[in-house]
Amino acid sequence: MKKLTVRDIDVEGRKVLVRVDFNVPIKDGIITDDTRVRASLPTISYLLEHGAAVILMSHLGRPKGKVVPEMSLEPVARRLEELLGCPVVMADDCVGSAVEEKAAALQPGDVLLLENLRFHAGEEKNDPGFAEKLAALGDVYVNDAFGTAHRAHASTEGVTRFMSVSVAGFLMEKEIDYLSRAIADPERPYTAILGGAKISGKIDVIQHLLDKVDTMLVGGGMMFTFLKARGYGVGASLVEEDRLDMARSILERVEREAINFVLPVDTIAAEAFSETAKSVTVPIEAIPAGWIGLDIGPETIELFRVEIAKSKTIVWNGPMGVFEMEPFAAGTRAVAEALAEATRNGATTIVGGGDSAAAITKLGLQNAVSHVSTGGGASLEFLEGKTLPGVAALTDKPA
Ligand code: AMP
Repeated sequence: MKKLTVRDIDVEGRKVLVRVDFNVPIKDGIITDDTRVRASLPTISYLLEHGAAVILMSHLGRPKGKVVPEMSLEPVARRLEELLGCPVVMADDCVGSAVEEKAAALQPGDVLLLENLRFHAGEEKNDPGFAEKLAALGDVYVNDAFGTAHRAHASTEGVTRFMSVSVAGFLMEKEIDYLSRAIADPERPYTAILGGAKISGKIDVIQHLLDKVDTMLVGGGMMFTFLKARGYGVGASLVEEDRLDMARSILERVEREAINFVLPVDTIAAEAFSETAKSVTVPIEAIPAGWIGLDIGPETIELFRVEIAKSKTIVWNGPMGVFEMEPFAAGTRAVAEALAEATRNGATTIVGGGDSAAAITKLGLQNAVSHVSTGGGASLEFLEGKTLPGVAALTDKPA
């Protein structure tokens, strides 16, 4: 970790402005999943225990620069209060004189939560004037919102230009540590498991990971574009016709570079895209015309399990099938369990955010792997080898 973290600075008696990710699902004023609020607790508690006053800021949803009352962070303030066991003052806005007064009055141990940053268009535009107003509220800046670190917004990037010190929180530090290990110095054999609906959003990740890995296992909807490129009939399965050339060139590359690129050998095919549709397990070359492959089959699961068990570093992004429907969840479940087993045997296992993170959490295995990333888009961009603006903007550790 080349960036300063909260551990490297003295926060006693200071007002610490912390960018957190409180973008939680809220239905009728009730938070339906508070994972992200809980994930921010180590940093907040650390700051409070070390004598700081804490000013928290986050976005919620996509209000697009307007005040949308349903996207207020007020329910988060109440939940946070319960989790921290101390009062959390909710501000009516995130900038302006009333907020400045509230911030100025803070004493060590106090917690202030600013209102949704995206109620102001300046947030996503990375407007310097807006960023400066945010910066004026605190003495030190902490970014603990990995999930938005791939966006150069006022609260993730612009604000750092007006602060003397900008450091990473614990959650951010953990994300960077694990993900950099996966791209910089992985223990081998190194395996990537990719799934999800489409190749299109993941071409750059596939290409970048192919530079690094020994083995790549491919499942999910994207497998059918590769299989079709190899000349198989895939029935009515999801195929991106406009990506066939891309798939062919990837297949040529893995052949040329002798990368162990493993495609499924069987699939669960269904008569329709539905939980109640009739389904059969078939070898990949025998998908009936008009049927849709919705999961990897048992032979593929076995094949993947063997590869996973041999690996010392594993990165997983994207479900193996339509795991939201129980009849097509077995492949994703088996991969999650194989990852848990590999972790017990000493492998480093990293689950990229989004659907694979949701799947592993649904299975209750989130603590059985080394790291589940909280940021879908951000972890993908990291794995693509891109620099995340929110990380780059933090202060470097002295050489
Ligand atoms: P992504 O956001 O690209 O990771 O895609 C996740 C989505 O891919 C999930 O909602 C899955 O239901 C879907 N998916 C996985 N396998 C298939 C498949 N064989 N056919 C269609 N969709 C799939």
